[in-house]
Amino acid sequence: MAEYTPMIQQYLKIKAEYKDAFLFFRLGDFYEMFFDDAVKASRELEITLTSREGGSSERIPMCGVPHHSARNYIDQLVQRGYKVAICEQTEDPKASKGVVRREVVQLITPGTVMDGKGLDEKENNFLASVTQFGQDAFGVSFNDLTTGENRVTVITGNKNDVINELYSNGVKEVVISETLDEEMRRSIIEGCHATISFEEETTIDDGFFNIVDHLNHEKLLVTFGRLLNYLQKTQKRSLHHLQSVHHYYAHQFMRIDLYSKRNLELTETIRSKGKKGSLLWLLDQTITAMGGRLLKQWIDRPLISHDEIQQRLNMVETLRSQYFERHELREILKEVYDLERLAGRVAFGNVNARDLMQLRKSLEQIPAVKKVISELGNAYATNLANKIDSLDDLTQLLNSSIKENPPLSIKDGDIIKDGFNETLDLYRDASRNGKTWIANLERQEREKTGIKSLKIGYNKIFGYYIEITRANLIHLPEGTYERKQTLSNAERFVTPELKEKETLILEAEEKIVQLEYEIFVDIREQVKEYIPRLQSLSKIISEVDVLQCFATISEERHYCRPTFSENEIFIKDGRHPVVEKVMNSQEYVPNDCSMRDGRHLLLITGPNMSGKSTYMRQVALTAILAQIGCFVPATEAVLPVFDQVFTRIGAADDLISGQSTFMVEMLEARNAIVHATQKSLILFDEIGRGTSTYDGMALAQAIIEYIHDNLGAKTLFSTHYHELTELEQSLSQLKNIHVSAIEEQGKVVFLHKINEGAADKSYGIHVAELAELPPSLINRAREILEQLEQGDKKPTVIIEKAQNSSPSSVTQVKEEIKEESQLSFFEQTTGNETKEEVLLTKREKQVMQIVKSLNLLDMTPLEAMNKLYEIQKKLK
Ligand code: ADP
Repeated sequence: MAEYTPMIQQYLKIKAEYKDAFLFFRLGDFYEMFFDDAVKASRELEITLTSREGGSSERIPMCGVPHHSARNYIDQLVQRGYKVAICEQTEDPKASKGVVRREVVQLITPGTVMDGKGLDEKENNFLASVTQFGQDAFGVSFNDLTTGENRVTVITGNKNDVINELYSNGVKEVVISETLDEEMRRSIIEGCHATISFEEETTIDDGFFNIVDHLNHEKLLVTFGRLLNYLQKTQKRSLHHLQSVHHYYAHQFMRIDLYSKRNLELTETIRSKGKKGSLLWLLDQTITAMGGRLLKQWIDRPLISHDEIQQRLNMVETLRSQYFERHELREILKEVYDLERLAGRVAFGNVNARDLMQLRKSLEQIPAVKKVISELGNAYATNLANKIDSLDDLTQLLNSSIKENPPLSIKDGDIIKDGFNETLDLYRDASRNGKTWIANLERQEREKTGIKSLKIGYNKIFGYYIEITRANLIHLPEGTYERKQTLSNAERFVTPELKEKETLILEAEEKIVQLEYEIFVDIREQVKEYIPRLQSLSKIISEVDVLQCFATISEERHYCRPTFSENEIFIKDGRHPVVEKVMNSQEYVPNDCSMRDGRHLLLITGPNMSGKSTYMRQVALTAILAQIGCFVPATEAVLPVFDQVFTRIGAADDLISGQSTFMVEMLEARNAIVHATQKSLILFDEIGRGTSTYDGMALAQAIIEYIHDNLGAKTLFSTHYHELTELEQSLSQLKNIHVSAIEEQGKVVFLHKINEGAADKSYGIHVAELAELPPSLINRAREILEQLEQGDKKPTVIIEKAQNSSPSSVTQVKEEIKEESQLSFFEQTTGNETKEEVLLTKREKQVMQIVKSLNLLDMTPLEAMNKLYEIQKKLK
């Protein structure tokens, strides 16, 4: 290191502490990056890579971004999951001897960005921490630095429960200990696409006592402590706005696991991972950014408390019926700025006068909000209204101090109103008087000289001057003024009095700018004191906003108020809220859903593409909407309050562990079967499809029986195994329903209508036809089907084989299969086996496997004898 110049040595020393971040090293007007950082940043940011001397024999790679446009580059890096350490000069270069002192003043990371493009105003930006306590207990905490919200919980369960919790909060970054289990670490990265950061310190400073003093358990403190220490170390500034840590329990809310949230497309769609097309997208009629964020939180956590649900529904009903009041409320909310994030920026010292002006304008709306909701005549609304503190004192402060349209910069004056500060008023008087004096002087001199075009001007270099055009110079007696500057068509002059006044004016103006800045900073400090009150206010405003949003959507889309029952589902004319919106309401076919009189299992059959999975989803979404307190897409809805929703729909790719699709299917099924209670809702779409027919059908039937006999959860089970519809005979709580389709001129027409009973046909070939498979192939499939239907219907396995063989061999194989009574029900066929292989018994196959896998060269004769004995035993 000694060979490097002192500045590069300084750089390397600082960089060593921020190995996992880009170090933005301040050099004059630029932030420079060196070595690998420079190479990587030039690629990521598409900026030119240069190099410089650094003392060693080789030139050092370097690239830089101008200080004033750095924000944009920082945003780009952080959005891509990188961290950026901002290293500033912390002493005046003129005053320093040797290398200027530099320090990292902030580490900006994906979970701690305060502003910039990476932030979606309607989404929280969560940083999380995970701490493992023993085998299956994890502490998880969350912080949104922009709003100051904090939450902590302890999860007892497996790692998927933790990933689920992280995922549903959309965390960008997770803080862990170096000692955290490697597998867990990998799951976080893969399952949540989050950046990992490390922090070992967990002790909480006394300064934060007020936000954690109610946490009653060491685990909670340690979990939150890790997060807090990380924040302190990276942000290196006041965290005044951090709110009291909210301790919650997962079972306080309806639980929906990771898979199901994604399958149901609650906040993002499976395909594009975007908001558009999700339930959140459909519902979002919030006006304020705070309301938008709360809506997402509510969708992620539907309620299970009957009273809380009713409270929300009551208010939605009131707002829905009072159109004018709701309309007025929406208009008022349009003027309300993001108070919560603003409070965060106040704490960070990041606000300018324009922000404070907007804060004042927002606060001025609050009395009107309060008035509207207090007059709704609804108990919950009145209660909310009573809790509203419109911060009149702060409004007053801002109103008397900040000018109407202040500039963006807080360093150029023109921010503070007259009458707010006496000294400032004095300086302003001096400056204004001086200016009046100058205006008078101009008039006097024009009269005196008779030159009408004489004018007094100002520029930054020469100050005030008297300007006379060249043509008029003859009217000016020599020696009247002091000559200062000659232009092509004019001369400029000064007088001693003018210079004297100029000094006074300039001094006053300099003082004004300086004093305005000081006053502004002082006001900003005073606003800090209001942060907790601003945060409480924004909570109420965001709640009001979400409730008006529910009312608006419920009215617009003709939703009905759900009612709740102990154990029944009855939905009349239910619709899938998003599909209905996308496809145009007239075309959507509403459907009923009834699970009454002890019936809790619906077995749904019907052709592919007929609407089975849409139907199942619509039931789940209806339940979720009801439990977040919104009206539901139906004309009547009676529902239980569900504790959990489980889904197994479609082929979800597995992000977490790279499992095969069938394995994921089974994991999801297991998850439901292990955790579901009588109060849960289960949606199983085509379970068993991912394996061979017999295997799949056997599993499907066993799962149905298990749910029927042991769980009693409300279950919608769709299947293409018609054989399963026979279960209605033996399982008293199961009912068959089907989606109807009709054939018109040889073509299938889906009616999307749910009816009682089992579907009569599969229509699979019709769907293949719709998908425009070659006509010859379709005809061939019809032929094969006909042959099969004439014989035994069951062994669909033959269809797979039949595609490569002639009809006679199909029949032949079928006959042989009938004879081969030992063919195991669970036996897997891949469709690639030879005829002989299909006919082998399971045991024979196992033996073949064993023989094939023997490594003879590695065996002693005795071992070989033993193996042979074992094989013979198996065959006998
Ligand atoms: P399945 O699960 O039976 O294969 P889907 O539920 O995926 O079928 O539905 C296929 C398509 O049918 C959907 O994309 C939708 O466009 C349409 N559809 C489903 N249900 C309805 C309905 N009730 N009304 C109108 N169209 C529907």
